[in-house]
Amino acid sequence: MLEQKILNIKIEALKAIKEARTTEQLSDLRVKYLGRKSELNEVLKGLKDMTPEEKKKVGPMANMVKQEIESGFQEAERLFRSKSFNFEAESIDITIPGKEIKQGHLHILSQIQNEIEDIFTSMGFEIADGPEVETEFYNFDALNIPKDHPARDLWDTFWIKSEGKERIALRPHTSPVQVRYMEKHRPPFRIIAPGKCFRNEATDATHEHSFYQFEALVVGEDINVGHFKFIGEQFFSKFFNRDIKIRLRPSFFPFVEPGFEFDISCTVCDGKGCKSCKGGGWLEIGGAGMVNQNVFAAAGYPKNKYQGFAWGFGLERLAMMKYKIDDIRLFHSGDLRFIKQF
Ligand SMILES: [Zn+2]
Repeated sequence: MLEQKILNIKIEALKAIKEARTTEQLSDLRVKYLGRKSELNEVLKGLKDMTPEEKKKVGPMANMVKQEIESGFQEAERLFRSKSFNFEAESIDITIPGKEIKQGHLHILSQIQNEIEDIFTSMGFEIADGPEVETEFYNFDALNIPKDHPARDLWDTFWIKSEGKERIALRPHTSPVQVRYMEKHRPPFRIIAPGKCFRNEATDATHEHSFYQFEALVVGEDINVGHFKFIGEQFFSKFFNRDIKIRLRPSFFPFVEPGFEFDISCTVCDGKGCKSCKGGGWLEIGGAGMVNQNVFAAAGYPKNKYQGFAWGFGLERLAMMKYKIDDIRLFHSGDLRFIKQF
């Protein structure tokens, strides 16, 4: 039966087209099924010798099959052209190693801050926070810093244009947080206030215009310098993982009375004397003192009812001492060679 033969050609051709994997195979198949010498073409050529009844039956069917095979080829060619049908790309090699996902980590200063917060919270301290853009009152007045103090100068502090009556500045220290905290809390308490500070400073290996400070404040009715010394020794011994001693030297800061500079025993030689401590056995670490009663008064406390100590030190300086970093500018340089070391 001729009709059956035509149907078989169609089935065979469409199957072969589906199985073709390259454009070369496809064009060979085109010659085989639609070419001049193809079976289908022979059928069409023989139409002229058929009876009118046969022609009526076979003619339209053969043409229909020719069209179906043709559109089968077109569909296959379209698929081959589209990138999604790339057999090589489709294959999966499960032995190829996976793509490396680059993982970031906390910046060294964030790590140090977390570490410090952990040590202090383990000693019952609370962590306090305050604004980085601060009013002149909290930056200076409330801290007993006189009107003519050089810190208020344009050359030391970044003042910001303000619409209101009060002058505002980027805080030059974290001490305003002390006052803000005391306004809302009554002693006894112990807090630390880590945060960013800004000073109008020319940068060099030990100075930055933006840096982190760490404020500690402990207030109660009978807090004395002995408490300060004990807390300091505890903290620095934990931070540097060795026994650290503290030395106090008299100094002046407006917000404390008495005030002192404090040094810690050298973290390299434990006080015997080495290059790091220039032979002296001590390293300067920061300023501290017993809170001036005027600061308590500015926060609304009755004078002479409470005593407390406060200190402030630079986070970068601690990181530099712990990891022997010799240039403060590296912290904010964004240099991955530096950042990746920690
Ligand atoms: Zn030393």
